[in-house]
Amino acid sequence: MHAILGLAGKRTVIFDGAMGTMLMAAGLKAGESPELWDIEKPSLVTDIHRKYYETGADAVHTNTFGGNAIKLADRGLADKMEQINVEGAKLARKACPSGKFVAGDMGPTGKLLKPLGDLGIEEAEEAFFRQAQALATGGVDFISIETMYSLEEALAALRAAKRLGDVPVIAALTFNRTKKGFFTMMGEGVNQAVSAFEKAGADVIATNCSLGSRDMIDLTKELRSATGKPLLIQPNAGKPVTQKGVTSYQQTPAEFAQDGREIRDSGADMIGGCCGTNPDFIKALVQTLGVLP
Ligand SMILES: [Zn+2]
Repeated sequence: MHAILGLAGKRTVIFDGAMGTMLMAAGLKAGESPELWDIEKPSLVTDIHRKYYETGADAVHTNTFGGNAIKLADRGLADKMEQINVEGAKLARKACPSGKFVAGDMGPTGKLLKPLGDLGIEEAEEAFFRQAQALATGGVDFISIETMYSLEEALAALRAAKRLGDVPVIAALTFNRTKKGFFTMMGEGVNQAVSAFEKAGADVIATNCSLGSRDMIDLTKELRSATGKPLLIQPNAGKPVTQKGVTSYQQTPAEFAQDGREIRDSGADMIGGCCGTNPDFIKALVQTLGVLP
């Protein structure tokens, strides 16, 4: 069994918080490609990774969320796909203390699949496969597919990552809360998503983004009753508030950590943070859960 899954059998595994939030605080401008910093500002990226490990994260995501060639092409960076992912993996590896983990981050293409859009499913899977290969070359311990709003696209990424062979894969969808329950943007429900992920070989079933920690408590319960697989839950820091065009998150680290305890008690094996979280949130989570190194 892979070490990260073994650790999850012993205690709650702590993941990192947001990368985008930290990069913006470090000066990333709107419209700038965060992944390009893996090449152009590597020491800033490594510092963020290091901060998360120092606050007690067991696993840290690489700065490669938008690092598939289809997404990179939007900013004319498709030819840098391999370099971004190899270097991104190396930066996290460099910051990673021995015994801790590097998660190779893969996010959506940003395009709609056929027939709603122009993107073919084979084309998407191939782009994800090439990204996963580059992340593996750079030395990640496993692949973490995040913020997917389409089950079909998430499955393409999952199949691609499983093609690497002996590398665990975490598969996360983003759910919205409706009166009828939790659904992806494309309308897929929790049970449908979980059974498709299980069939496709996901090692860990996950959810991140869109919802704050309060809503994620209930979502964790639904996911837990749908699967016996390990669960990774990564909430935002509460609900976003937009004032004068600037979006911010109002939740305090202590509030986030209290909800984190309920998320653990509802069946999560692994917990981290998404938008609006920073190392203070992860530190509070570690303390509140009483996680020992
Ligand atoms: Zn998020």
